[in-house]
Amino acid sequence: MHILFIFFYLALLVSVLISCCFFQKKCKHLKQLAFQDHITQGFNITAFCQEYEKKVLQSPPHTYTIVFMNMKNFKWINEKYGSSMGDQILINLYHILKSQIGDEEFLCRDNSDCFFLCLKEHDPHTIGQRLSSMIEHMNHYSQKTTFEYTFYLGVYLIDDLTINARIAMDRSRIACYQKEAVNFCYFYKKKLSMRLNKEYELNQLFETSLYNHEFQLYFQPKIKLNDHSIVGLEILVRWQHPSLGMIAPSEFIPLFEKSNKICQLDLFVFEQVCKYLHDCQQKQKPIYPISVNLSRIHFKKSNFLEAFSRIKRKYGIPDKWIEFELTEYTFFDKEQRKAVKDAIDEMHQSGFLCSLDDFGVGFSALALLKDFNIDCIKLDREFFIDIENPKAQTIIAGFITLTKELGIKMVAEGIETANQIEILKHCGCEIVQGYYFARPYPLATLESWLDNFKNQF
Ligand code: C2E
Ligand code: MG
Ligand code: MG
Repeated sequence: MHILFIFFYLALLVSVLISCCFFQKKCKHLKQLAFQDHITQGFNITAFCQEYEKKVLQSPPHTYTIVFMNMKNFKWINEKYGSSMGDQILINLYHILKSQIGDEEFLCRDNSDCFFLCLKEHDPHTIGQRLSSMIEHMNHYSQKTTFEYTFYLGVYLIDDLTINARIAMDRSRIACYQKEAVNFCYFYKKKLSMRLNKEYELNQLFETSLYNHEFQLYFQPKIKLNDHSIVGLEILVRWQHPSLGMIAPSEFIPLFEKSNKICQLDLFVFEQVCKYLHDCQQKQKPIYPISVNLSRIHFKKSNFLEAFSRIKRKYGIPDKWIEFELTEYTFFDKEQRKAVKDAIDEMHQSGFLCSLDDFGVGFSALALLKDFNIDCIKLDREFFIDIENPKAQTIIAGFITLTKELGIKMVAEGIETANQIEILKHCGCEIVQGYYFARPYPLATLESWLDNFKNQF
């Protein structure tokens, strides 16, 4: 009985020991999963953040810097050589980077082809030199593999210890959105963060604002110089937000072009225009042809015109009452040009007119007039700012003759002074748009402006 008891205790002890070993192994494995990157076997993001708290947050500000390294051609490498080769490259790059940093510095791989480094440096020049030497080392290694490694480098010089590692890392990442690189690195600036926050906020507000009709139509008349008749109205959108106030198109159009929301917005504006024209028809009010701005983003989608044509039909809008204004950016992308050419032809078939906006600045080429079936050109206000300049007058007059011979209408944009009007008349210009005659007005103001204008001339 006594021996049996001892035997039982021994068995229990052995099983406890085995479970302990198993548990320890399991813990180690779990720890690895939690803190180790499965490809490089180095730190993962969680471990990086832990290290940040231990090292960076325990040092004075302006001691450390976070660098975000995003490889430029990695997707191509994966595509061409397969993902196991891609993984091997990441492992090698990780080891090269690790060999280039000090004991108090650390790094981790983020998703895919990105690394975060935390360097004990704060001088932009030294940081640039160290990063360039790291990349040199990588490319020295790559000589054996024929790849050339290039990176986007976002740098955040840690100056604020009240933010956590994730935010600091994000700052280095968003530094890459900046336009100019200093010493091939993009340094984080607070202004950029504010801009991105603002962009994020506006993007978030879009749907509700659209639903609540916070986007409002402003109308700017186009005037014929010889008899002061109104030959058309351009629609310019404004965002009247209940708490942010009036937001100008320059603040939200580029942003909505990035997020493709512009297509929804343009369609909304277009439908309001059709409703307005329909209303004028019903109430037998005078009707002016209307032009609406159409973002280049639409042209990425084939058949985008169908939605516009459907709305046009729904409100029974006759042909040639609506013109689309396209900016030169629409024609910039050479691959998109064929689609644009076809879309312009389709616009005509569907009963729309088409004009080329802001012509003459940027990269507008005269060849556009030859290759694209355009009804009207809007010459940019830049041409008329120094209208006293005889060369400017020669160009304007020459351009007017050219468009007349091509049978294309021409509108001078942004006309503000009586002097500009006189010179334009002298150059043979027929139609103008600008503050001299009228600013863009909301509908109610437009209607009273129309009454006054008729009495004035
Ligand atoms: P745009 O189509 O070239 O419109 C002319 C811009 O010049 C308008 O600015 C107008 O307010 C301004 N303007 C008119 N006359 C004068 C003048 O005499 N002097 C000066 N200094 N400016 C004048 P806005 O309304 O801020 O619009 C800016 C741009 O935003 C537009 O340029 C157009 O490209 C875009 N945009 C406006 N509404 C829409 C829209 O509904 N959809 C799209 N996709 N783009 C739009
Ligand atoms: Mg326009
Ligand atoms: Mg314009």
